[in-house]
Formats: sequence, C-alpha cells, structure tokens
Amino acid sequence: MLLGGPGSGKGTQAVRLAEHLGVPHISTGDLFRDNVERGTRLGLRAKRYIDAGELVPDDITRGMVRDRLAQPDTERGFILDGYPRTRQQAATLNGILASLGRRLAAAIHVRVSDGELRARLAARGRDDDDAHTVATRLRTFHRYHASLVDYYREVGLLHDVDGEGEMEAVAERVLGIFPKATGFTTI
Ligand code: ADP
Repeated sequence: MLLGGPGSGKGTQAVRLAEHLGVPHISTGDLFRDNVERGTRLGLRAKRYIDAGELVPDDITRGMVRDRLAQPDTERGFILDGYPRTRQQAATLNGILASLGRRLAAAIHVRVSDGELRARLAARGRDDDDAHTVATRLRTFHRYHASLVDYYREVGLLHDVDGEGEMEAVAERVLGIFPKATGFTTI
C-alpha cells in the first residue's frame, strides 16, 4: 500500500511498482472516477464529494474496496493506492483482508512537502484540481494523515520514502525498500 498527499506522486509510483511486480494497481480515486464516468449508482453518490475534495463516506468506499480486493487477479498480491486514508479505513481494510485470508505487507509513505504538493497540483490540471478543491483536498489530507502514518508505524509496516526529486530516483527508492518490506526480491 502507498500513502502520501494529493500530488505526492504515489499514484505514478504505484502504477510503476504494480507493473514491475506484475500485480494489479488498485486506486480508489481511479475506481471512483470510473464509476462517475459510467454513471453508476455508486458514481452518482460519490461525485459530489470528489468534486468538493472531501472523502467519499466510508459506507460507499468500503464495499467498492472489498469487491475489488475479492477479484481473483489479486491472488498474487496487489498495490493499493489512495486507500486507506484514515485510521477508520485502516481498521476496515484489516477486516476486509482478514476475511479474504490476506494481510498487508507494507505501507510505503511517499513524503513530499506541502509547498511541493501545491505546486504539483497547480501544474496538473485534472477536473478536481481547481484552487478551491485543491485547498480542501490538502486540508482533508492533513486532518487524517499524521494519525494514519502513526498507526502504520505502530504496527511496524511503515516505510518512509523521500518523494521529492526526479520520478526515476523516487522509483528507485521505492524499489529499494521493497525487498526489506515484503521478503520478496524484485526483478
Ligand atoms: P489525490 O490523491 O490526488 O487526492 P485520488 O485520485 O486518489 O487523488 O482521489 C480523488 C478523490 O477521490 C478524493 O479527493 C476523494 O474525494 C475520493 N477518494 C479517493 N480515495 C478515497 C478514500 N480512500 N476514501 C474516501 N474518498 C476517497
């Protein structure tokens, strides 16, 4: 699992890592956007929170994550991106994984300063990247992030990675912690 702020680059790193390991990349942001595009019931319920930069309520998010993790392509592992974002979601994830007979191998924290997050989001230009939504997303992030990081540190799963600098350099750092984190050797 990767955790980091909006614009931290965790999504990019998650895609690369998943490709490298040959396991699915599961991004709750992507799953929500896909549901919004397809106009599903879940998408319709989630849209106003996404547009506002707020967290989609847990009763919507929980089922979506459980269904995705229960797909057979996760059997060899998965990279989770954008979930959990709160301690409550971390507890929910523990329950989902336990019911599937799985466990989390590592929580990779991609660390980026606030100034850099702001600059990257300003440059990106996605639908939900206008100034007001970005400000709310950063506020939402800060409300939950420290406590989530503390939780994963307490349970011994946390690995810190410096997320600033070249994308390639960050990817090397992520891969560097990976054998330690999971006992797997990356190819
Ligand atoms: P970013 O990391 O840049 O904020 P994401 O694509 O991960 O972008 O998420 C976009 C939006 O999707 C969030 O602002 C939020 O509204 C919703 N979302 C994504 N993941 C979650 C989650 N775990 N819980 C609740 N809402 C979420």
